Amino acid sequence: MKSIKMLRTYLAFFSLLLIIFVACDDVRNVKEVTIQDIQKYLSEISSDKYEGRKPFTEGEEKTVKYLQQELERMGVAPGNGGSYIQEVPLVEITGHPDTSMYFNSPEAEIVLNLKKDFVCYTERIEETVKIEDSEVVFCGFGITAPEYDWDDFEGVDVKGKTIIVLVNDPGFGGEDESFFKGNTMTYYGRWTYKYEEAARQGAAAVLIIHETASAGYPWFVVEGAASGAKLNLKPNQETSYKAGVQGWISLDMAKSIFEKAGFDLGSEIRKARTKAFEPFSLGYTMSHTLHNMFKYDQSRNVIGILPGTTSPEEYLIFSAHWDHLGIGKTVDGDSIYNGALDNGSGIASVLSIAKAMSQSPALERSVVFLFVTAEEQGLLGSQYYAENPIFPVDLTVANLNLDGMNPFGPMKYLTITGIGHSEMDDYAREEAAKQGRDILPDQEPEKGYFFRSDHFNFAKVGIPALYAEGAYEHMELGKEYVKDKRADYVANRYHQPADEYVAEDWDLRGIAQDAQFDLNVANRLGNEKTWPEWKEGSEFKNIRNQSKLKN
Ligand SMILES: [Zn+2]
Repeated sequence: MKSIKMLRTYLAFFSLLLIIFVACDDVRNVKEVTIQDIQKYLSEISSDKYEGRKPFTEGEEKTVKYLQQELERMGVAPGNGGSYIQEVPLVEITGHPDTSMYFNSPEAEIVLNLKKDFVCYTERIEETVKIEDSEVVFCGFGITAPEYDWDDFEGVDVKGKTIIVLVNDPGFGGEDESFFKGNTMTYYGRWTYKYEEAARQGAAAVLIIHETASAGYPWFVVEGAASGAKLNLKPNQETSYKAGVQGWISLDMAKSIFEKAGFDLGSEIRKARTKAFEPFSLGYTMSHTLHNMFKYDQSRNVIGILPGTTSPEEYLIFSAHWDHLGIGKTVDGDSIYNGALDNGSGIASVLSIAKAMSQSPALERSVVFLFVTAEEQGLLGSQYYAENPIFPVDLTVANLNLDGMNPFGPMKYLTITGIGHSEMDDYAREEAAKQGRDILPDQEPEKGYFFRSDHFNFAKVGIPALYAEGAYEHMELGKEYVKDKRADYVANRYHQPADEYVAEDWDLRGIAQDAQFDLNVANRLGNEKTWPEWKEGSEFKNIRNQSKLKN
C-alpha cells in the first residue's frame, strides 16, 4: 500500500515537474523579432539589385525568387497547394477619350472639354465604348448604406443611364459626428465606391462632381490620375460589369449644367445631405466615346503558411506589398526607386515575424504570410487575393497589414488607421499597453487612409484588418523630432529614388517595436478561439455576417 502511495506521489511530483518544464520551455522558445533580422532583409530587398521591384520587370523575378527562397529556408510551407506563388492576371488599359462630351436637352447643347471640364476612363475590356443619348440623373452622393438607412437610388432605375454624384459622404463638412462618421471618411465617400455602386446599379456612366475640400485634392490631381495607361485586374466573367464611363466633372461645369436645367447646385447639395433627398432627372442626355488599347500580363503574389496545431483550418494573414516603382526619372543622378520604406520595411518585418514564428512552438491556428504585388498600381495584388482567396474568407480570423514602417526609432504611441471599425482595436490597445504604449487614432481621418492600403481589400470582403504603426512621439526625442523627420520624408523621399536604406539614418528599433507588436497580436489570436468582430456601425459588419451565413 505504502509503496503504491509513494509511487503515486512520485508520479504526481514528476508530472508536475514535467508540466513546469514543458511550460517554461514553451515560453523560452517563443522567439522575438530581432533588429539583426530586420536589417538583413531590409538591406537586401531595398538594394539596387532588385531594381525597385516593379511588376513585370527583372526586379519582380528577383524579388519573387528571394521571398520564396527565404520562406523555404525558414521552413514556412508553400501557401498555394505545393507552390509559393499565386498568379495575378492583369490588364493594362490605355484609354483615349474623345476630347468632347455632350450634354443635350431640348433647349441646349453643352460641350464639355477633356481635362478642362471632365476626365474619364473605362475598365471595360472593349476597344470602343460608345455612350449615346443616355439619360442624365442626379443621384446625390450615389450611396446605398443599409446601416445608415440611406439609399440615394431609392425609387429610380438607373440602368443604362448616366448618373451624376457628389464626392465624399453626407456627413463630411457638417457639425454632427454621428451623421455617417462626421468628418471621418466612410468608404461610401471614396471615389472607388462611387464607381462600384454605379456598376451594381447598372449605370452606363458615372460622373463625380469634383470639389477640392470634399475630395481632399485639387482638380489637377484628378486630371493626372485619370490619364495614361492603367493597370487593372483582368476581369472574370461574373464580376465584369463596369460603367462604360467612369469620371469626374469640374465644379464650375457642374454648376453650369445644373443652372441651365433650372437648378441651383448649392441648394441641391444641401438637399442631398438629408434623408428627404430623391434622385431626379436633369433633363439632359449624355453622349461620349472612348477608345482603348490593352496589354495583358501576369504578376505574382508570394504566399507561405505555418499550419496550426488544433485549428489549422482557421487562418491569420500577415500581408505586405512587395512591389514598388522600379526604374524611373533620374533624380540627383539616381534612377532606381528602391522603396526601402515603401515597402522594403514591411517585407523585412513580415519575413522577420515569419522567422520568429517558424522557430517558436506552432500556434493553434494557421498563420499565412502573404506578399502582394501591384499595390502601387491600385492595391491590385491584395484585391486579387481577396476575390480569389486561397483560404476561405469566413475562416480567416484577421489580417495584419504592414506597409511603410516607422524608421525614426521607438515611439510612445501606436497609431491605428481606421480606428473604431473592429475589435482588432482592443487587441491593439492591450498589446500596445504591454509595450508601454498608448494608442492614437489616425491623425488625418478625413483623408480615408484606411481605404488606401492593402488591408482594405481584406476589410472589403469582411475580414477584420489591422494597420497600426508607431508614430507621433519618439520615446527619447519627443514630438517635434518625429514631425520634422516625417515632413522631410514626405518632401524628399516618398516615391523618389531617395527612399533608400541608409544604416546611419535609420533607427530600426521602431520597426522592431512595431513588428514585435504585430507578432504579439498574432501569437495571442493564434491561440484563442475568439473571432474579432466588426463594431456596430462599421460598413463592413454586414459583409462579414453575410459571408458567415453562406457557410
Ligand atoms: Zn507607395
